[in-house]
Amino acid sequence: MMPVLALVGRPNVGKSTLFNRLTKSRDAIVADYAGLTRDRHYGNAKHGRHEFIVIDAGGFEPDATSGIFKEMAKQTRQAVAEADVVVFVVDAREGVSAQDHDIAGYLRKLGKPCLLVANKAEGMKEGVQLGEFFELGLGDVLPVSAAHGQGTHALLDRAFESLPVRDESEPAEA
Ligand code: GDP
Ligand code: MG
Repeated sequence: MMPVLALVGRPNVGKSTLFNRLTKSRDAIVADYAGLTRDRHYGNAKHGRHEFIVIDAGGFEPDATSGIFKEMAKQTRQAVAEADVVVFVVDAREGVSAQDHDIAGYLRKLGKPCLLVANKAEGMKEGVQLGEFFELGLGDVLPVSAAHGQGTHALLDRAFESLPVRDESEPAEA
């Protein structure tokens, strides 16, 4: 079974852009309008010799009780249930929002490997501007820029480190 990595976060933080970057595809709809991508999207990706599946979970409002936001929350919970590792994407430029706190609370209770990733971090000074994300209680924040392709290699290194050790006895690729 290939490992599954799910991208979770509120609308407009750059999940679909990151999905495209990781899968090198245009499958996910990259939208300038929050909430447009309603459905989960699956893609195949590779990191070194590891192959894995990426899910773009769409936007997430964990407490939504009606309409499109309720459907999006359901999609996200399903994506998270399917995932071996959850990548929680926040917006480095906008900082921590109330919705980020809600999502963090939900993810902390899950007990699955979870990586906190601050997207749109191109040109930012990590220590100064990303310190506030520690308050989400998910540990370190990894700066990335999905649009510029920065930090994604380190993100995948961390994602694979957090997975249970698998049998590495098959021969490596030439
Ligand atoms: P989603 O709603 O979380 O799937 O977000 P999208 O991938 O649709 O992106 C939302 C907006 O953020 C779009 O205007 C993207 O061009 C922009 N965006 C995505 N990644 C980056 C990034 O790394 N840097 C900057 N500056 N903008 C980004
Ligand atoms: Mg999207």
